[in-house]
Amino acid sequence: KMQEMGNGKEEKILVLVRLRPLSENEITRNEVADWECINPTTILYRNSLQERSGLPTAYSFDRVFRGDCATREVYEEGTKDIALSVVGGINSTIFAYGQTSSGKTYTMNGITEYAVADIYDYIQRHEERAFVLKFSAVEIYNEVVRDLLSTDNAPLRLLDDPERGTIIEKLTEETLRDRNHLKELLSTCAAQRQIGETSLNETSSRSHQILRLTIESSAHEFLGKDNSTALAASVNFVDLAGSERASQALSVGQRLKEGCHINRSLLTLGTVIRKLSKGRHGHVNYRDSKLTRILQPALGGQCKNCHNLYLEPF
Ligand code: ADP
Ligand code: MG
Repeated sequence: KMQEMGNGKEEKILVLVRLRPLSENEITRNEVADWECINPTTILYRNSLQERSGLPTAYSFDRVFRGDCATREVYEEGTKDIALSVVGGINSTIFAYGQTSSGKTYTMNGITEYAVADIYDYIQRHEERAFVLKFSAVEIYNEVVRDLLSTDNAPLRLLDDPERGTIIEKLTEETLRDRNHLKELLSTCAAQRQIGETSLNETSSRSHQILRLTIESSAHEFLGKDNSTALAASVNFVDLAGSERASQALSVGQRLKEGCHINRSLLTLGTVIRKLSKGRHGHVNYRDSKLTRILQPALGGQCKNCHNLYLEPF
């Protein structure tokens, strides 16, 4: 959906859908894929129940990807420009949304890896500028924010800074030495991420994860000084918790509580995105969840140039 930007440029929230191939288990159980791509922007629901219910069976998005396409293809066609725009000072956010087991983590990990490789290639080709890359990572679990780069499991507080907006107190921010340093940090994050068991998927992720790469650059002679050649922007890679409803996962007790909190962040994100896609007029309820507070600078608010991409695997 298009929206007018303050600088006259149009901004777009892109929605991409990536189908997942059937797993070996699903094939063994003779399951068949419910969804099928019928052209580059349309998927069709193949379930006969839905056909009989009279609900539409075809859905259109900015781009849809078949189950047999590679992550490289999703990245090149759907997310490369957005991830790379960060080097030019434009904030962006890439979300993976969908049910547990739909391929969110698989897709986001791949996209993050390709994006980082491209960003480093770009830096190597632009020796006339000096670049500083910083990385931070948080998990939001039950509306509690934790640092994925720290072994200290203490909850982090969100603070309101009059100039910078919402900031995360005591968050570790690593200045990257090289691309291998980032690879190490990414595996630290993966190991730290909380994993819960539900009846849907034994290793399902019940938490939201935000990986943030910030890139600052300037002409060499101005590095570290206040100057007009400086650019700074962040790209957020957001792997959302499973979108299934608590009742579907037969959740009880703790799981049900988690379900409510997960849904609060997802619900708020949904209303924020709908609001932004209609134009930035009136009140946007960023403050209703931790996820949207943390992402506010990249979603809208103070940010003039931002691109968002909403990646929806089924
Ligand atoms: P989610 O994070 O949405 O719960 P995962 O990314 O963990 O789902 O994917 C579930 C399983 O399916 C994993 O074993 C993953 O490796 C596999 N998978 C997901 N997407 C693909 C794909 N496009 N091609 C092959 N395997 C995939
Ligand atoms: Mg996952």
